[in-house]
Amino acid sequence: MYFRISDIKNSDFIGKEVSIRGWIHRIRKQKENSFLLLRDERGDVIQIVYPSFKTDNLTIESSIGVKGVVHKDKRAPEGGYEVRGSDLDIYNLSQIDYPLGEYTSIDLLLEYRHLAIRTRRMTMISKIRSSLLRYLRDWFVYNDWFEITPPILVRSSVEGGSTLFKLNYFNDFAFLSQSAQLYLEAMIFSLGPVWSLSPSFRAEKSRTVRHLSEFLHLEAESPWVTLADLLKVQEDLISSTVSNVIKERKNEFEFLRIDTSKLENITPFSRMTYREAIDLLRNKDFKVVYKGSPRPIEYGDDLGIDAEKLLTENSHVPIFVTNYPLKIKPFYVKVDPNNEEEGLAADLLAPYGFGEITSGGLRESNLQQLTKRMMLEGLVSSDYEWYLDLRRYGSVPHGGFGLGIERLLRWILFMTDIKDTVPFPRTMSRINP
Ligand code: ATP
Ligand code: MN
Repeated sequence: MYFRISDIKNSDFIGKEVSIRGWIHRIRKQKENSFLLLRDERGDVIQIVYPSFKTDNLTIESSIGVKGVVHKDKRAPEGGYEVRGSDLDIYNLSQIDYPLGEYTSIDLLLEYRHLAIRTRRMTMISKIRSSLLRYLRDWFVYNDWFEITPPILVRSSVEGGSTLFKLNYFNDFAFLSQSAQLYLEAMIFSLGPVWSLSPSFRAEKSRTVRHLSEFLHLEAESPWVTLADLLKVQEDLISSTVSNVIKERKNEFEFLRIDTSKLENITPFSRMTYREAIDLLRNKDFKVVYKGSPRPIEYGDDLGIDAEKLLTENSHVPIFVTNYPLKIKPFYVKVDPNNEEEGLAADLLAPYGFGEITSGGLRESNLQQLTKRMMLEGLVSSDYEWYLDLRRYGSVPHGGFGLGIERLLRWILFMTDIKDTVPFPRTMSRINP
């Protein structure tokens, strides 16, 4: 029987013989003894001591089985336990040219991502990512929302044509889905509140630290909701998930040197209207580039990365920005009945400068309004007839939101580059490994 390393680092095991197996994380050969750091498949490590003659041929990342006795020795790294090895099984002697080491460049770590995911840092991130997905799902199960699985091959665009991946589809064409929203909207008529977790694809042509060309998208949609209801759902979902994740993954956050006090007491989320956001930015003398030269930001401009950063960098809690001008939001956003220029939409901006993590709001449920907006945006109506049917046959007030999993992780991990939050990032310049 083989133990997990995390189990044997325990005073009950002192003096006991155990078998463990894993990979050689580090090795230091001295005259009499060799000191290995063994890493198991959960990413935990323990020091192994062997007489040096036994370890002559051992290399970094070789997979081995160890039998030995557990000792407490305060000189041992990572908790003061070590195994004094007797037997040694070798599963595979790793080639000596293992390409990664302590000082490997960021580019090389991406090139060898299939090996770099073995680093302890990446293991910790992957565990946090897994817990995050688990608690998000738990929230929906607990609150009685149905999980659905939308199609990925689609014909309709949700977020505009410029970021669509187009592909051959038999004798025709299709797109990779940018968002499951339209399909979620179709399903609320028979399931009520629904949600999905699926990849979305965006052919983002700009290289930024917060865009991937494939990201994991959590989307939710419900009939009969108000904008206030939707904000409440997001606040509850995100705050309870974050609080559960930092509890469950305390050790991982500690290893990554993340100050989790910055993730505590994040409710209530604050709120401002888009107009207030613009006024605030103008007071801070924020400028945008317009036709090649800078000018003060104006009502009607999009909030880009830098604007969102300025709005959130001194906030400890996430901020909802509501009531956007319709012309900078997609065709399906519901018009504010009190102000025809604005839509009942809200983006959620993460604190400490991290910026947008969700977008959502009420959807236009009126057939004439929706058709008019689609025509203005030049959408080919034959591809959307099915979607318009949802407004022809028993339309209801409804709304929802989309949350980028990697964006949420980027904030709670306090990491600049979104590529760090996902094992195999897809960007304009990388599709392999
Ligand atoms: P942004 O303005 O930041 O480019 P967006 O407004 O185009 O994002 P939405 O269409 O609103 O994005 O998508 C919903 C959510 O999905 C966003 O709030 C964000 O969390 C996430 N998201 C969108 N595009 C990407 C991307 N390229 N990479 C990672 N996450 C993304
Ligand atoms: Mn958005």
